Amino acid sequence: MVVGGGLAGLAAGLRLAESGRIVEVIETRPRLGGRATSFEDPRSGRVLDNCQHVVLGCCTNLLDFYERVGVLDEIEWHREFFWANPPHSPDRLAMAGLPAPLHLAAGFLRQRRLGLAEKLRIAQALRIMMARGRRWRVREGDRTFLDVLSELGQTAREVEQFWSPVIVSACNLEVDEVAASHALQVIQEGFLAHRFAAAMGLARGSLLSLYDPARRRIEEAGGTIRTGVSAKALAFDGRRVTGVVTDEGVVEAAAVVSAVPPDRLAKLCSSTLRAADRRLARLEQIEFSPILGVHLFFDSEFTELPHLVLPGRPTQWLFMKGVDATGRFHVHAVISAAQGWMALDEAAIAARVLEDLRWAFPSVRVPDPVEVRSVKEKRATFAAVPGFDRLRPTARAGAAGGIDNLFLAGDWCATGWPATMEGAVRSGYAAAGAILGQEGLVADDLPTARLSRWAGLSP
Ligand SMILES: Cc1cc2nc3c(=O)[nH]c(=O)nc-3n(C[C@H](O)[C@H](O)[C@H](O)COP(=O)(O)OP(=O)(O)OC[C@H]3O[C@@H](n4cnc5c(N)ncnc54)[C@H](O)[C@@H]3O)c2cc1C
Repeated sequence: MVVGGGLAGLAAGLRLAESGRIVEVIETRPRLGGRATSFEDPRSGRVLDNCQHVVLGCCTNLLDFYERVGVLDEIEWHREFFWANPPHSPDRLAMAGLPAPLHLAAGFLRQRRLGLAEKLRIAQALRIMMARGRRWRVREGDRTFLDVLSELGQTAREVEQFWSPVIVSACNLEVDEVAASHALQVIQEGFLAHRFAAAMGLARGSLLSLYDPARRRIEEAGGTIRTGVSAKALAFDGRRVTGVVTDEGVVEAAAVVSAVPPDRLAKLCSSTLRAADRRLARLEQIEFSPILGVHLFFDSEFTELPHLVLPGRPTQWLFMKGVDATGRFHVHAVISAAQGWMALDEAAIAARVLEDLRWAFPSVRVPDPVEVRSVKEKRATFAAVPGFDRLRPTARAGAAGGIDNLFLAGDWCATGWPATMEGAVRSGYAAAGAILGQEGLVADDLPTARLSRWAGLSP
C-alpha cells in the first residue's frame, strides 16, 4: 500500500508495479500530483497550475520518472535566463556550449547590473564553493547560507542581486534563514557540476496532464490507483504495520509506504506506533514555508520574454504563459518565502505584483489585469532551517530499530535534496528500492564535469 498520490507516492507505486509487486496507491484528493498539480478555477473554468513548477537538468530522477510514464516530451527546455535591470533591457544569462563550470561564465560576465568588482567577488565565492567540495557542504547544515556568504566576503548588494534570487526560489527560504547545506546543494549541483544541470524545464501543458499517463503506466504494470480515498490510520499489531485503515475500510498490506507530508503522517500514527519507530518521533518539529502563485490575465501581450527574474523585488519570478484560448495574455508571478503575503487579500496581492511588473517593464505600458487568481500554499515546502537535516527520516527503519515493513517517502525525507519534485521522486524510488532490496533504484546525479572535478568538486 502506498498512501499519497503526489510525486513521491506515484514514483514508489510505479517502481513497485514495474517490479511485479501488487501495489495500490490511495490519494485523498480527486486528482493526483499533490502539491505539484493543477485545479479547475471555479471562477473562470480554466485549469490552472497551483504554481509554476520548474524542473532543472540536474533532476535526474524526476526526468527518469517522466520518461517512464512517457511525458518527457511535454517538458520544454530553456537555456537562457533573463534578469530585470530597469531602466535598461533585462540582462540575458545564456548557457554557452563550454563544459561546466565555464558554460555560464561568459553570460555571467556580461551581466550589466553588476559591476566588475562585484562579478569577480561572486566568481571567487563560486570557486571556493567548488574547491571545498561536496563533503564540506553536508557539514554546513547547522549555519545559514548568509553566514557562508558573509565569510566569503559577499556584499549586501551581491546577495540581493545574485544569491538571493537563486536561493529563495530554489529553497523557499531567505538566505539568512536557510541551512547553508541546502543552498550549497543548489549551487554545486545546479550550476557548477554539469553544463545541462541548470537548463530549466517547464511543462508545456498543465501539471495535471502529466499524471493521467502516470496513472495509466502504473495500471498497465498491474498497480491500482484509487483517488478520493483517505487513509485514517496505519494499522499496527505492536510489531509490524498490517495495513491501512481508510474511509472505505481496512486494506491489509505486507508493506506500507507513507508518501504524505510529516504533519499528515503524524495524524495516521497511534502513540504506540510512534513509540516503536524513532523516525516518527519528531514529526511535529518540521516547519513549513509558504509560496504564493499569482495568475494574471491581460487583454494585450506586452512582452515577448518567456520568463524574468526580478532581483531585489518582492515578486521573484514572472513566467509569461502566452495568449490563452480566450485571447488573454497569461502571466504567472511567483513569490517564494511568502510569509509576509499570507494575510493580504487578492486585491492587495494584485496591486503589489503589478507594481513589480511595472518596475520590470518600464518602457512599455503594462495594463491593469482583467482577471487575477492568487493561490496561497501556506505549507508549500518544509523549512530547511539549520539543523533540519537531522529531522529527515530514512526510507527504511535503520539499525537503530523501527518497523521494518513501514517505508517513508516524501520530499521531506532524507534525500539530500531541497523540497522539490526531484526530492519527492528520489524518496519514492528509495522507498521502492528498500522494499525490493535494490538500492540502485535511485538514478545517479549527472556526472561531474572534469574541470569542476579538477577545481575541487569531487564526486
Ligand atoms: C507553490 C509551490 C511551488 C513549487 N515549486 C516547485 C518547483 O518549481 N520545482 C520543484 O521541483 N518543486 C516545487 N515545489 C515543491 C514540490 O511541489 C514538492 O516538493 C513535491 O510535489 C512534493 O511531493 P510529495 O509527493 O513529497 O508530497 P505531496 O505532493 O504533498 O503529496 C502527498 C499526497 O498525499 C496526499 N495525502 C495526504 N494525506 C493523505 C491521506 N490521509 N490519505 C491519502 N492521501 C493523503 C495529499 O493529498 C498529496 O496528494 C513547489 C511546491 C509548491 C507548493
